[in-house]
Amino acid sequence: MLNVSGTTKNLGVIGWPIVHSLSPAMQAAAIRSAGVDYAYIAMPVHPEKLAQAVEGLRSLGFRGFNVTIPHKTAVIDCLDEIDEDARRIGAVNTVVNEDGRLLGRNTDVAGFLQGLAKQGVAIRNKKVVIFGAGGAARAVIWGLIREQAAKITVGIRDAGKAKAALADFSGAADMEVVSWNDGRFASALEGAEILVNTTPLGMTPKIEEAPPVDWDRVRSEAFVYDIIYTPERTRFLWEAESRGYRVLNGTTMLVGQGAEAFSMWTGIRPDEAAMEKALLDSLRAKERGTEG
Ligand code: NAP
Repeated sequence: MLNVSGTTKNLGVIGWPIVHSLSPAMQAAAIRSAGVDYAYIAMPVHPEKLAQAVEGLRSLGFRGFNVTIPHKTAVIDCLDEIDEDARRIGAVNTVVNEDGRLLGRNTDVAGFLQGLAKQGVAIRNKKVVIFGAGGAARAVIWGLIREQAAKITVGIRDAGKAKAALADFSGAADMEVVSWNDGRFASALEGAEILVNTTPLGMTPKIEEAPPVDWDRVRSEAFVYDIIYTPERTRFLWEAESRGYRVLNGTTMLVGQGAEAFSMWTGIRPDEAAMEKALLDSLRAKERGTEG
């Protein structure tokens, strides 16, 4: 049970809708295991009320909050400052209230990198193929640039639209954005040392879908990463795993971004195993809820 008193510091997440957010379960587990006097709640904020809501949280003295869809970019105009990661990605997922000044951060990039680091996969000088060019891809690409990947190939169904959306990264890395039907994509797959799916292809409930990969072209030592966390094994991952590739799903990234946010608010590194357990319990409860 949560013990809330007059000294409790407040945290939460804003989004629209917010009922599906997994952050309250994860952050409650982090609070419990750290034994700190904080409370974390889900707050539905309609897009038209975003600025008012953020001012409200500042006035109420919230220590911080997470920001989720659809507010990750729009919230930037409501803040006093954003850090380099948030600026390059163009999105904020964590706000820290430092004595009334609201600082915007992006912890998705740390979460993504933590996934690879925990598997012992170094990025420096590696050739990476990414599927998808949306919001999550921007965090992935910025992480790869920061860690000095040798080459980044983004494969996408509509390369024209994606090229424009990713144009601001083009000077920062050896990066190409190509249609995944293009011959250049096929040769990038042959050279790839890390493959990352950032599309929603294969996410529950459309679990039969997968980004297009000709596995015969992919090196046996390539590392295959899907940032989707539900189901735990997407079709992309089981296709890879059944061929003997090392694989990772999006759970570590999701827990990692939450753990990083918790550290920023409290100064304490949380128990990530407890957060992961809470996350998986909630995901399984949701799956059971939709079965019947
Ligand atoms: P997004 O901004 O909507 O971007 C999705 C990308 O996938 C776009 O490039 C889109 O291309 C492409 N795409 C979507 N549907 C497609 C289809 N049917 N066929 C081909 N391409 C398609 O979404 P996002 O926020 O980046 O999220 C993407 C995924 O990452 C979601 O599954 C989300 O759950 C996951 N994610 C995980 C974490 C984590 O912590 N593990 C964090 C963030 C996101 P078009 O522009 O052509 O539509």
